[in-house]
Amino acid sequence: MFLTFGEQIAHWMQNPHELYHKPFHVIENIYYVGNYWTSAYLLDTKEGLILINSTMSQTAYLLIDSIKALGFDPKNIRRLLITHAHYDKCGGAKAIHDLSGCEIWLGKHDEFYLTESRHMIMFEDTVPVFPITNFYDYDSVIDCGDIRIKPLHCPGHTPGTTSFFFDINHKGRTLTCAIHGGIGASFLARDVMARSGIPLSMRDNYLASIDKVRDIHVDVVLPSYPARFVGYDFFGASESDDGSGDSFIHSDAWGKKLDAKRDELLSMMLKEEEI
Ligand SMILES: [Zn+2]
Repeated sequence: MFLTFGEQIAHWMQNPHELYHKPFHVIENIYYVGNYWTSAYLLDTKEGLILINSTMSQTAYLLIDSIKALGFDPKNIRRLLITHAHYDKCGGAKAIHDLSGCEIWLGKHDEFYLTESRHMIMFEDTVPVFPITNFYDYDSVIDCGDIRIKPLHCPGHTPGTTSFFFDINHKGRTLTCAIHGGIGASFLARDVMARSGIPLSMRDNYLASIDKVRDIHVDVVLPSYPARFVGYDFFGASESDDGSGDSFIHSDAWGKKLDAKRDELLSMMLKEEEI
């Protein structure tokens, strides 16, 4: 039976256990604690545990179980960094905050999603209200002791989408790791934008954001949706890795992914012209 994307999400919300994915070590102090569909990463830093994204509210129990299964205590999460204010990134934020009392960071330009425009979160009735304690300062780094996370503003997918870059030391080499904060282009279809009231100029922001980060050298890409990632087989790498994390080093993956997303939007725009 073919399900539309909306039907697929609704099905997963009713059956979140189907999204379970075993948590695993990625490289150095980075761990995968997300599910089969949407990612979450745990960084074990000198300044405490950092969690990047919290998945949907329905899968928060899987996220918490995964953190525990790797031997960490979710109560020790010090900061939750949210890449943008959609339900599949911030749905679990309240559960994580209730457990840990952690700081919750978000891009300032997405703040209105959580206040006057909650429908923009999508499936907003499933996203419990949670506090934002910090907004990203794009001129600064989030200093976690041994890891210094550089946030970069990448508007397009949402106005406040934020990507993260940080260096790790791996076998004597400095490697740059990155997670793009949100790059799905389906919101940028003309009819979808008209329905949600997003101005068409958001497409220019999206393309400019890709140009802004396209040529940054990234050794380890941490995908937002690993099963759909075009850069390399992220889950496959977790199966074949010898524990060192070497299987996750793919220096061409970042550019490949961003080029594919740029092409996706441009061909969508071309098709619209033809209609
Ligand atoms: Zn999103």
